[in-house]
Amino acid sequence: MLGLMMNSQLTLTAIMEHARKFHGDAQIVSVTADEPLHRYRYRDCFARAARLANALRRLGARPGDRVGTLAWNDYRHLEVYFGAACEGLVCHTINPRLFAEQIDFIVNHAEDRWLFVDPAFLPQLRALQERLPTVERFVILGPAASAEGCGLRDAISYESLIADEPESIIWPDLDENTACSLCYTSGTTGNPKGVLYSHRALVLHTYGALMPDTMNISCREVVMPVVPMFHVNAWSIPYGAAVVGAKLVFPGPRMGDGEALQRLIESESVTLSAAVPTVWLAVLGYLEKTGKRVPSLKRVIVGGSACPRSIMEAFEQRHGVHVQHAWGMTEMSPMGTLNSPTADWDTLSADEQWTLRLKVGRPVFGVDVKIVDPEGGELPWDGESFGSLKVRGPWICSEYFRIGKGDAHAEDGWFETGDVATIDARGFVAITDRIKDVIKSGGEWISSIDLENTAMAHSGVAEAAVIGASHPKWAERPLLCVVRKPGATVDRGELLAFFEGKVAKWWIPDDVVFVDDLPHTATGKLSKKDLRERMKDYRFPGT
Ligand code: AMP
Repeated sequence: MLGLMMNSQLTLTAIMEHARKFHGDAQIVSVTADEPLHRYRYRDCFARAARLANALRRLGARPGDRVGTLAWNDYRHLEVYFGAACEGLVCHTINPRLFAEQIDFIVNHAEDRWLFVDPAFLPQLRALQERLPTVERFVILGPAASAEGCGLRDAISYESLIADEPESIIWPDLDENTACSLCYTSGTTGNPKGVLYSHRALVLHTYGALMPDTMNISCREVVMPVVPMFHVNAWSIPYGAAVVGAKLVFPGPRMGDGEALQRLIESESVTLSAAVPTVWLAVLGYLEKTGKRVPSLKRVIVGGSACPRSIMEAFEQRHGVHVQHAWGMTEMSPMGTLNSPTADWDTLSADEQWTLRLKVGRPVFGVDVKIVDPEGGELPWDGESFGSLKVRGPWICSEYFRIGKGDAHAEDGWFETGDVATIDARGFVAITDRIKDVIKSGGEWISSIDLENTAMAHSGVAEAAVIGASHPKWAERPLLCVVRKPGATVDRGELLAFFEGKVAKWWIPDDVVFVDDLPHTATGKLSKKDLRERMKDYRFPGT
């Protein structure tokens, strides 16, 4: 027997219409290339999204067409998010920090018909444009004059594109399984792979992300997503904020700039923010240097790579900001787990609480997880057995765009994340490593993430990365690469001694190399692949 409920479709249009009706007054504040602080309201955003959709209709957009963006977090990008998706098109966000060859591959693979480009990326695109034959027009995300002399063929400014379009529109009735956005994985090997999100997946993900033990966003929050809008829907924060009517603050091109972020937090009374750990390192560095404060900020959500305890402690003890760990991936829209206190939290000792807090948290309802051994046998949830982490759920990709199922898609319907993890009796997941980064020493596995977190706790260490370097006896041994804090004099002996008693003796790195900087990926994570390449001629002393 079927239930007797209305079959309303779960679409981003429903989110937009809800926000327009009930939260039209809520503010959106953005830093853009042309305005230091642009300010308007949700109702203005959706009126302009409608004008954009009308403009795309005029340009002959057909359902499913891809609208590419190379853009920072700001209000125009948000208008493309909603305007394209609710028109039945696909908002294809492209990471501008990728290499030219990768952008070239991605745009051609997706067959983007239009590219909406922040003025900051014009030089990159001028060099690339002849290799992008599917792109009919470049739209410069700026005022009328921004396209003049920009050097891109058939360029028009965003403001000119929508200038004469009406605000009234009848949005198409979309099936909830219609594609709405597309993001390519950064892919450490092979070509990038496209993850094509559906309206239904993102609406369900948004519900999941908003829940109290997940991001817990209410209309009283002021949310600043520093996680880029070009990477996995900015963790769905723009949609979540629209559902509840929270004020949004977009840092535009100032995403890695501690000073600009502190200023925005203070001037806009930001209460909640989300970003990868390197961003928080920059903010903390600026706060330490200047003595400035972030009094309104209550919580930050950290994900994308492991967050060292030192960052969490510095934020909490010096600034009263609660840091919550989250884990996910492009293929998961992205949220898998988030770390929130459990019902029995107050009965736990401080040490027990820290042990849990350093894990990535418990799965959000909608994400099922398991860990398996190399033969596929399920491992116990004892917090110690570690194996390959698999996931399934309605916001996890079932196949890649125009590729089909990848190696990670198993016959049994589970998706292999490529992460190695433990799960404890409470359901807290701890990411031990990427399978590719785990250090295989004498047949045993060593977690590079645990070693990095330990090194980061030393007061003289600004950033640390651990890779497996080849060793004649053990196959691989851990090599610690460290960027010292300015003025710090910590040496090899002191650092290695610092590990004693904190990790198993045989895990302690065999050597330390001090470097000026560490390589990062286009999404701000440590790039172990590039570091291994840099250190390929390294030999341990005496080997
Ligand atoms: P991406 O698809 O580029 O977002 O990368 C996803 C990968 O980032 C995951 O499979 C993990 O390896 C890593 N990752 C994400 N969040 C965390 C976290 N909190 N701790 C450790 N690794 C993480």
